Amino acid sequence: MPMETEKKINSLDVARRQVDIAAEHLKLDPGIREKLKQTKRELTVHFPVKMNDGSLKIFTGYRIQHDVTRGPAKGGIRYHPDVDLDEMKALAMWMTWKCAVVNIPFGGAKGGVQCDPKSMSIQELENMTRRYVWEIAMMIGPDRDIPAPDVHTNPQVMAWIMDTYSILKGYSVFGVVTGKPLELGGSLGRLEATGKGVYTIAQEAAHIQNFPIKGARVVIQGCGNVGGTAAQFFDRAGAKVVAISDYQGGIYNEKGLNVAEALSCRNQYSCFITRESTGWETITNAELLELKCDILIPAAIENQITHKNAPKIQARMIVEGANGPTTPEADEILRDRGILIVPDILANAGGVTVSYFEWVQNLQELLWSEEEISERLIRILKKSYAEVLHISQREKVDMRTAALMLGIGRVAEATRLRGIYP
Ligand code: NAD
Repeated sequence: MPMETEKKINSLDVARRQVDIAAEHLKLDPGIREKLKQTKRELTVHFPVKMNDGSLKIFTGYRIQHDVTRGPAKGGIRYHPDVDLDEMKALAMWMTWKCAVVNIPFGGAKGGVQCDPKSMSIQELENMTRRYVWEIAMMIGPDRDIPAPDVHTNPQVMAWIMDTYSILKGYSVFGVVTGKPLELGGSLGRLEATGKGVYTIAQEAAHIQNFPIKGARVVIQGCGNVGGTAAQFFDRAGAKVVAISDYQGGIYNEKGLNVAEALSCRNQYSCFITRESTGWETITNAELLELKCDILIPAAIENQITHKNAPKIQARMIVEGANGPTTPEADEILRDRGILIVPDILANAGGVTVSYFEWVQNLQELLWSEEEISERLIRILKKSYAEVLHISQREKVDMRTAALMLGIGRVAEATRLRGIYP
C-alpha cells in the first residue's frame, strides 16, 4: 500500500480504498464495486449572502447523495473552511455504510458550506443557512434526503433549515431535517445520541477486552457535540477523562479532569483557561493523541491518526467518535501493534439512529419517551456491535473491515435485489 505523502490526505481516496478492501473479502461483482465507489448525485452551489457590514459575500456549498438503494439519503451539514467536494463525497459514502451497519432504512448523504463560522455573526449564519437551503431545496425532503447536524451546525441551524424549507413548500415540514430543537419536532435524546452511542460502544469493546470502564483512562480529541457528550458519559461512569481538546489545543490532568468544569469553561470563554486551581496542563492536539490511556476517542475531524503518529499511539483501544479520523496506513500500523480500533461507522452511529427515530416520530406525528428512545438506541448499538464482532472473528479481519463488510454487503445485496434499470 503506498505511503501517505506530505500533501493533504484525500478522504475520498481513503473511503474508496476501504470499499476495495471490503469488496475483496465479500468477492463483490466488479461492476457493483465500481457503482458503490461513486456518488449518485452531487450539487455544488455558489450563492451570495448579505454580511453585517453591508457587503455581499459569495459562499460555496454542496449536497451529495452517495446511495439511496436502502432508503432516503441521510447525512449531516458541515460548516468549516476545509469543506470541499471530495470530503463531502467521502462523508456521504461513510453515511451509507453507517446506516446499513445499524440496519436503518436510509442511504447516505452529506452537505456543507465552505466558511469560517467562528468569524461570523448569528445573523450572518442565519442568512447563509437560509440561502444555502434555498439553493439545495430541490434535492432534500422527508422522502428523499434528510440533513442533520455535523461540525459547527446545531439545533438552531436545523430549525432555520426546517423553517426555510417549510416556507418554500407553504406548510410546516418537520421531517425534512433531524437534530431539531425539541420545540420544533426534535426528538428527546437526539442531542446526546452520538456521544452516548460512542460511550455504549466503548463499554461493549472494553467488556470484550476485559477491562472495566470505571477507572479507565480516557483521552478525547474535540469537545463538541460528540466529544463533550462522550466525556460526560465516561465521567458519570467513573472513568478518568485525563485529556480533552478543541481546535486550539487541549488540557491534561494525570489524575483526571473535572469534566463539568472543563466543559463549562470552554462554553463560557470559547477556550480552556488554565489556572492553578484547575490543575490543568495545556497540551497540543498532537500530544494529546499520543498520551498513554485505555481509550482514545478522536471526536473532531478526519485524518488525525496517520502513519506518522500511529507508531506513537499509546492507547489500548481507539473508539472513533469522528468520521474518518484514521487513515488506512495508520490502521495497518495500529493493527500490527495490537491496538483495537472500533470504527466510525459503528462507534458514532448513535446519532443517525436517533435521527431515524426523530424522522419516524415526525412522519407519524407522535412522540416517544426518553426511556423508549434510550432503550431502542442501546439495543440497536449492542446488536450491531455483536454482528460486527461476529464477522471479525469469523473472517479473521479487524473491526473496521468487518463493519465495512456488514454495511457494504447489505447495500450490495439491496442493489442486487432491486436490479439495474433498465
Ligand atoms: P462540533 O462542531 O460540535 O465539535 C467539533 C469539535 O472538534 C470542537 O471541539 C472543535 O473545536 C474540534 N475541532 C475542529 N477542528 C479541529 C482540529 N483541526 N483539530 C482538533 N480539534 C478540532 O462537531 P461534532 O458534531 O461533535 O462532530 C465531531 C465529529 O463527529 C465529526 O467528525 C463529525 O462528522 C462526527 N459525527 C458527528 C455526529 C453528530 O451527531 N454531531 C454524528 C456522527 C459523527
